[in-house]
Amino acid sequence: MEVKKGQICGQRISQRLEELAEISETKNGVTRLSFTKEFQRGQDLVKKWMSDAGMKVRVDNLNNIIGRYEGTKPSAPALMIGSHLDTVINGGKYDGMLGVIAGIEIVQVLYENDTRLDHPIEVIGFSDEEGVRFHSTFLGSKAVAGTFSPQTLELTDETGITLASALEELGLEPYQYKSAARPANDVLGYIELHIEQGPVLEKEGLPCGVVTGIAGASRFSFKVTGFAGHAGTVPLDLRRDALSGAAEIILAIEKLAKENAPIVATVGKLQVNPGASNVIPGEVTGTLDIRDTDAVRKSRVIDEILHAANTICQKRNLSFRVEKIMETDPTLCEAKIIAAIESSILSNGMRAVPLISGAGHDAMAMADLTKVGMIFVRCKEGISHNPAEFAAVKDIEMGAKVLLDTVIQLTVKNSNMEKEKVN
Ligand SMILES: [Zn+2]
Repeated sequence: MEVKKGQICGQRISQRLEELAEISETKNGVTRLSFTKEFQRGQDLVKKWMSDAGMKVRVDNLNNIIGRYEGTKPSAPALMIGSHLDTVINGGKYDGMLGVIAGIEIVQVLYENDTRLDHPIEVIGFSDEEGVRFHSTFLGSKAVAGTFSPQTLELTDETGITLASALEELGLEPYQYKSAARPANDVLGYIELHIEQGPVLEKEGLPCGVVTGIAGASRFSFKVTGFAGHAGTVPLDLRRDALSGAAEIILAIEKLAKENAPIVATVGKLQVNPGASNVIPGEVTGTLDIRDTDAVRKSRVIDEILHAANTICQKRNLSFRVEKIMETDPTLCEAKIIAAIESSILSNGMRAVPLISGAGHDAMAMADLTKVGMIFVRCKEGISHNPAEFAAVKDIEMGAKVLLDTVIQLTVKNSNMEKEKVN
C-alpha cells in the first residue's frame, strides 16, 4: 500500500476496515457484539490508530472510545466525528466502522500536515449502537448525549449477564454513567459518515451524498379477525376471510405510502391462523412499520391507513384491531452542516443529492446534545447488515475528502457555527 503523507488515502481506510473485520466471533461476515473480547480487541486497534494520528485517547464509563486532537483555541467547543464499532451478527465491514476510521483519517492528515484547526476535533467510536447483545439501541451515544437511562444497566444478554456487569468486567464504572455525558457547550456539532444502506446513490451514479434527516419510525401490530371455515364447502360470498382482508389492507398501505413519497411503509410480518391449506383463514396478525422525516405527514398517513383498514374490514364483515408498539421522532440535520457538506461535495466535483436516512444512527441520539450532520457513502446494491456489504475504495476516499472539507469549513475562524455558539 502506498500512502502519500498528508493526503486522504482511501486505501489506508479500507485496509484498516479489513484489519478490524478480521476480529470477529464468526467466519461468515463480521460479528463483534458490544463488550466482548473481540470488541475489546477491535477497540485496541482503534486506540492505536487514534494515537498514531496524534490524538489523546480515553475510554468513558460506557466503553465509548474518544480520541481528541486539540485545536488552537483551548476553550473552543469540540467538533465530534464518529459512529459505532459494534456490529450485528454476521454483519459487514463498513456499517459503523467506516465513520470512525474516516474520522481518524482526517485527523491523521491534519497531523501529518502539522495543522491545527481553531476547534478541537474529537473522533468517537460508540460502544453499542446496534443493540444486539442487550436488545437496546444507541447505548453509547445516549450516554454521551446525557439521555442514558440507568434502568438500561439491568438489561441482560442471552447468558444472563447484565450490562452493568459486562462493563464492570472491563474495569469500568457503569453507575458513573453521568461522567460520560458531555455538557452542550463543550460540543460544536457532530458529524457521522456512514454507508447509505440503500440504493439511491448507486442509482444516481454518485460516490456520496448529504443527509437532510433521519426518518422517525412508528411501528404497529394489527389483527384482522374473520371466521375460519371449510375451504371446500363455504361459498366465497359467504366467507369472512381474514387473509383476503389483510391482503387488501396491505395493498392500500402500499398505495397510500406511494402517494406520499418519500414516506415508506412495510408490512414485514404476517401470521395466518389457523394456517392450514384446507381452512379459510380466521385470523391474521401482522406488523406495520412506517417511516418519514416529516412527523406531521407521517401522522396524517397513519390516520389514512387506519381509516382505509377499517373501511375494508367493514365491507368484508371483519374486525380490525391495531396497537402502537413504538414511535421515534424524526431527526433533522442542521442546515449549516448540510450547507457545508453540500459545498464540499460540489467542490469535489460531484452533484449534491439530498438523502433521507430510513435507518437509525448514533446521530439521532447525538441530536439531543448538539447539531448533527451526516454524509452517506455509496454501498453496493444498498446491501448492509450482511457479509456482502461493500463500499469501493474510491468512494470511501471521496467520502473522507468531503468529511475533511466539511470539518475545515465548520471550524475556520468566524464560521457561522462558531459565531452562533459564542453568541
Ligand atoms: Zn450503523
